[in-house]
Amino acid sequence: MPAQAANPTPPYDREAARLLRLWVELTQRLASAAAHRSTDEEALRNLQLQVEDTITDRLPNSDALLAELWVWEAGLLHQSETPPETCLICRKARLGLPADLPLPAAVGGAR
Ligand SMILES: [Zn+2]
Repeated sequence: MPAQAANPTPPYDREAARLLRLWVELTQRLASAAAHRSTDEEALRNLQLQVEDTITDRLPNSDALLAELWVWEAGLLHQSETPPETCLICRKARLGLPADLPLPAAVGGAR
């Protein structure tokens, strides 16, 4: 174990935090794929749903978290004729979740 072994109660669930980061990355890529008609869309959607299921299994009160995540995802819906590299909504998506998102303590939030 690394140095954190000295701390018996980690401040948050590392695996849940890792899953959340993975979900954010997949959702960002999915939003871009859907908006710019990439053939990756279906594969990314399936991966995203798998990660959502895992988050639901892992976190006892995941409903509120998923509701926040879906609001973020809905804000990324777009259709664009410009390439993803210059698309503003894709750029916004790459920034990840907003800093003021009320994440549960289990994934590193303040509450
Ligand atoms: Zn875009």
